[in-house]
Amino acid sequence: MTGAGPGPTDAEWAAAVEAVRGLPADARVLLICHVNPDGDALGSMLGFGLGLRRLGVRRLQATFPGPPDVPEPFRWLPGVELLVAQDDAYPDPDLVICFDAAGDSRLGDLVDRLGRAGTSLVLDHHASNTGFGRINLVDPHAAATSVVALGLLDRLGVPLDAEMATGLYVALTTDTGSFRFEATTPAVHEMAARLLATGIRPGDISRRIFDTRPFGAVRLFGEVLGRATLEPAAAAGHGLVWTYATHDDLARHDQPAYVLEALIDSVRCTAEADVSCVVKQSGDAEWAVSLRSKGAVDVSRVAVALGGGGHRFAAGFTGRGPLDEVVGNIRAALGAEVLTPHS
Ligand code: 5GP
Ligand code: MN
Repeated sequence: MTGAGPGPTDAEWAAAVEAVRGLPADARVLLICHVNPDGDALGSMLGFGLGLRRLGVRRLQATFPGPPDVPEPFRWLPGVELLVAQDDAYPDPDLVICFDAAGDSRLGDLVDRLGRAGTSLVLDHHASNTGFGRINLVDPHAAATSVVALGLLDRLGVPLDAEMATGLYVALTTDTGSFRFEATTPAVHEMAARLLATGIRPGDISRRIFDTRPFGAVRLFGEVLGRATLEPAAAAGHGLVWTYATHDDLARHDQPAYVLEALIDSVRCTAEADVSCVVKQSGDAEWAVSLRSKGAVDVSRVAVALGGGGHRFAAGFTGRGPLDEVVGNIRAALGAEVLTPHS
């Protein structure tokens, strides 16, 4: 499941280039990404979209599943003007391009566009990608989907500019944890150097994306972190730390749900636990679960076992039922994962 494959073949790159280059002048192109879009999903999609604009694609839309609200930290991104609400997105585009989604279950109501589009192109870097596009550019060794997106822009001959680079840089810094994670290879720094050479300002970008939150969110984090639970015996002794946040918590501090995306970073620094987890209420009895590992446990396998996906060190799934049950299932899956030899 997580045995990383070799990445796109020459034939797959060529097919993707042809899918874009062969478009008639009036073709409608729809860009989509996964639900609750993060910096990689939005940054790759908008950076690539601006590249398509430079190529002369005029009828171009970008969207994501669910309510059309763009999380505040991303509202300034070049290319946000391409975004439309999912209901306003071309119902039957000539080409649909999907960013950073491991499977079509991550596309919500937009999944119908895959079937109705003339053709579909998937750009992703999840080892668990199901290959749901007509053409799939999936590179499990890529640190972010934006690595694949820039690979395709290069092959299309689009010259990089600062606006495109901004989204691609946001994507790269998001998925490498600002160049701290294992995925931070020499190639990642070489790509970052190319992006920075366009003149974008990394300090401004990082502050806006990672280091800014409303005071209400600071207070909310204090409360939610205050009830974090450490279970040293979990994951066969590797340890689990977890906490949760409900709609009530958000309402009490008058905060939108996206502020909780950064919470996992404050939880996962716990020294006594290999695995960290934040359970975020997303419906009446529905929870968006984020899992992180320091390496002893492959959390993508845990997430896949619970109906989700992700990477070895960062994964997630949607849990259903009461909170206790969801956390119980995580505990059980962690125990089973640690005791199962990797294939
Ligand atoms: P996050 O915890 O930041 O939401 O997600 C971490 C990683 O897990 C990302 O690579 C994300 O794509 C993946 N992931 C999160 N939730 C889900 C889910 O419900 N299903 C799948 N397939 N992947 C998920
Ligand atoms: Mn990603």
